[in-house]
Amino acid sequence: MTTLNHSPHILLIYTGGTIGMIENPITGALENFEFSQFKKYVPELQGFNFDIDALSFDLPIDSSDMEPRYWVKIAHIISDHYQNYDGFVLLHGTDTMAYTASALSFMLQNLGKPVIITGSQLPIGRLRTDGKENLLTSIEIAAATDSRGRPMAPEVCIFFENRLMRGNRTTKINAEGFNAFRSFNLPSLAHAGIHIKYEEHLIRRPEPGAVFKPHFLLDNNVMILTLFPGIRPEVVDACFAVRGLRAVILKTFGSGNAPQKPWFMDKLRALIDRGVIVVNVTQCYKGSVEMHRYGTGLQLLQAGVVNGYDSTMESVLTKLMFLLGHDYPHNEIVRLMNTDIAGEITV
Ligand code: ASP
Repeated sequence: MTTLNHSPHILLIYTGGTIGMIENPITGALENFEFSQFKKYVPELQGFNFDIDALSFDLPIDSSDMEPRYWVKIAHIISDHYQNYDGFVLLHGTDTMAYTASALSFMLQNLGKPVIITGSQLPIGRLRTDGKENLLTSIEIAAATDSRGRPMAPEVCIFFENRLMRGNRTTKINAEGFNAFRSFNLPSLAHAGIHIKYEEHLIRRPEPGAVFKPHFLLDNNVMILTLFPGIRPEVVDACFAVRGLRAVILKTFGSGNAPQKPWFMDKLRALIDRGVIVVNVTQCYKGSVEMHRYGTGLQLLQAGVVNGYDSTMESVLTKLMFLLGHDYPHNEIVRLMNTDIAGEITV
């Protein structure tokens, strides 16, 4: 690794979440602290010879309140400051962090600078916090360059508990432990131990000469239907009857299988005939949809269900919002769902 010939400029963006909280000494409740004062709570930041600026949402949110309009806001912040910073660290609640990471991976096309998203399970004001470690290493990764002076990780990533993961491959799997995220279908892009070891062959870079292009259009006329043994026709009817529905993520069993009952397949075919895009994502964390493997999957393929490959649910949901937001023709959306556009699937 080399250092830049100027001291790296990093922008911290605080959206909300546990990491930016301290305990009120009187009530004991967790409260957001004044983020402009963040250096006071993390004095270790003085140890970097980086220029670190910070900005915060006016009203920081618990990430359970995250919405597409906030993704647009984050994309605007990054694009407005793109030329002035070498890397970005987004501080975010863990609950929906994987959705935000996935959405941004599609919205920030030809990203040439790191966008490292992190948070913590314990507030930064607590003695045993995981927040400081996550924050400090994320900043180091956002500033790191390779032997050619290029950013080490110019992707939207999640850094959590020593692992750097591609954002759109990541899922929150632990509501309590510090080890809160996993990337089941793609190895980590880097591990932080005594040294930060990057898996350079896994890290995506924009094509030479490609210009950074942010996108701000999203359409949330989508829904997720999780299949379960005993699912009733009325439940499926209610889901498919949603007004304005443009895409359904079908969370199937195993390698992409669904019940063979005629009523179910009839409803699904009618939905697809209406022009609604149906994408098959497995309920399993690891592995891929293979609809040709069993008759129960093949019938979906024959009905026109789109393969979700080894996508996370967060990634396929936000990819659909992104593609629908751009109003591409139906066939083009299906083609792009079958195409790896941001490292999100193994085709
Ligand atoms: N509920 C919080 C949030 O996602 C939890 C956290 O910050 O980790 O905003």
